[in-house]
Amino acid sequence: MSGTALDAAFFVRWMTAAAAAIDREAERLTELDSAIGDADHGTNMQRGFAAVVKMVEAEPPATPGAVLTAAGRQLISSVGGASGPLYGTLLRRTGKALGDAAQVSAEELRAGLGAGVDAVGKLGGSAPGDKTMLDALVPAVAGLATSFEAAAGAAEEGARSTVPMLAKKGRASYLGERSIGHQDPGATSSALLFAALAEVAR
Ligand code: ADP
Ligand code: MG
Repeated sequence: MSGTALDAAFFVRWMTAAAAAIDREAERLTELDSAIGDADHGTNMQRGFAAVVKMVEAEPPATPGAVLTAAGRQLISSVGGASGPLYGTLLRRTGKALGDAAQVSAEELRAGLGAGVDAVGKLGGSAPGDKTMLDALVPAVAGLATSFEAAAGAAEEGARSTVPMLAKKGRASYLGERSIGHQDPGATSSALLFAALAEVAR
């Protein structure tokens, strides 16, 4: 992963690709949330990422850190569900870690996302194994040490690993044992974010 310099335009492309992936899969995300939540994850994510794309197109931020910080702020202000503040924190904290550099390396992005994912766990009081987005995000960041493709694969595998889990956080936890046997919607959207990252890096 050495040698890759990622600029603000790369991060704008990532956000745009993420929004497109979420649009394509919105129905599926909402279906998953209807099984163990309140059937709004697809529309929450669509609304949030549409606002992000609108913002980066209207006033493209100048640095990678600024793109992610502004995107995180948009998600927090435009998404009502739990996923808004959680994804907003992920992107804002990652953006803060990237500072004001004009370009960042893949390794710097991995470290930044590591800080972002830690902040999600702190905000949510959650950890891997609780059947949340962290079950995709944590392996994805670990996979980034190898490649963007490895990160996307690990996120997808992490999302699938939530199926047999008992939910310990979020709305799904209200269902207790009945949460078992369903894939977590947030882990599924996290896998989409990392698939979009691998797509733009290709
Ligand atoms: P809401 O649950 O408020 O309706 P969404 O449906 O948009 O919000 O998002 C639900 C997703 O948020 C879950 O599938 C889970 O991945 C994630 N989530 C919920 N609570 C937590 C938490 N405490 N920590 C981490 N992720 C969480
Ligand atoms: Mg929901």
